[in-house]
Amino acid sequence: MTTATTTASSSTASSSTDAAIAVEDASLAHNYHPLPVVVSTADGAWVTDVEGRRYLDCLAAYSAVNFGHGHPVLVAAAREQLDRVTLTSRAFHNDQLGPFAAELAALLGKQMVLPMNTGAEAVESGIKVARAWGYRVKGVRPGAAKIVVAAGNFHGRTTTIISFSDDEEARADFGPYTPGFVTVPYGDADALEAAIDDDTVAVLIEPIQGEAGVVVPPESYLPEVRRITRERGVLFIADEIQSGLGRTGATVSCDLVGVVPDLYLLGKALGGGIVPVSAVVGDRDVLGVLRPGEHGSTFGGNPLAAAVGLAVVRMLATGEWQERASRLGARLRDGLEALVGSGIVTVRGAGLWMGVDIDPAVGTGREVCEELMRRGVLAKDTHGATIRLAPPIVITEDEVDELVGTLGAVLADLRRG
Ligand code: PLP
Repeated sequence: MTTATTTASSSTASSSTDAAIAVEDASLAHNYHPLPVVVSTADGAWVTDVEGRRYLDCLAAYSAVNFGHGHPVLVAAAREQLDRVTLTSRAFHNDQLGPFAAELAALLGKQMVLPMNTGAEAVESGIKVARAWGYRVKGVRPGAAKIVVAAGNFHGRTTTIISFSDDEEARADFGPYTPGFVTVPYGDADALEAAIDDDTVAVLIEPIQGEAGVVVPPESYLPEVRRITRERGVLFIADEIQSGLGRTGATVSCDLVGVVPDLYLLGKALGGGIVPVSAVVGDRDVLGVLRPGEHGSTFGGNPLAAAVGLAVVRMLATGEWQERASRLGARLRDGLEALVGSGIVTVRGAGLWMGVDIDPAVGTGREVCEELMRRGVLAKDTHGATIRLAPPIVITEDEVDELVGTLGAVLADLRRG
């Protein structure tokens, strides 16, 4: 365990932290409300701020850093590719993209990959593929395609994606909205089935809702969604951008309940925390609908991204990361559950990914995160009362205990007032 001399102290932020934040505040659009910590370097599960204080990173960039900061295998893959070629555009072939696509598809038991960059682009791409499939394969009336989505969803921030968000903060003042989406309650398979009609081309859901607070649906939900979508002839698109790639103790969280969707949407950790890499992964009968010129991205599938993505896929192919997330996640869950009734109301999650509801009598999620930060642990609140914990999978057992111990101490101190 790291000593108190090297972790953050509970004193107020010193001047170089304040100065760095002031520079940001002066010239950055204020579309985020970060904790007042200025990260300078990082290694594994730890980040160090401009004052030299160390923090256990229990957010891992919303699961984009699943393999830890600066994993040597991933950094080596990036370095090697930097010296070769980084960007060709898809106007030409490159020697990294083919192996990346083949091995990623094989990892998920699928046939094809559509490479993009950010998570939101993967979602947008999945929507376009589903619509094209609906018109060209299913025979939906021109312009009538519908996609069923779940309440409480978070799929990104583009204008189309926020069109089917029910988070007013994300939506208000950004209309007019893209039509073609129907929202049903999350976790309710009957409601989902009732929303499907002849114009429905796809169901798009997060197998576990991350931004909503790591909400795990009833165990029968995803198998039911699979059965319904198959019977009704609509695509099942699983947004595994945050839940996938080892985080939940499985390659993708659909594996936890033995479900195989038609399309996986991947992002975040696919870029190893180094470059943005996202992808839509599916079979030829669906992804094969795209024709040259209909969709693309200058950076999507670039050789640097593909080299790092390939290294990520090979790490996951060993199964070690999934096993480790499962084992350490059980330890984290046990530790957190012991705090239920002592400042924690509920604990939910899978693998190394937990949503913790804080007793409002103790404080808000933000207040708890600020106090955790002062004591050397970085986490992120969501929806007021919830804290999301998603440490890099390289976290050790002692560090998991340190996280739980620090959270317990923070809650105890806040309860005492
Ligand atoms: N989908 C899910 C489930 C996410 O959690 C996120 C981001 O948090 C996205 C999509 C959007 O990813 P990005 O921020 O890379 O666009």
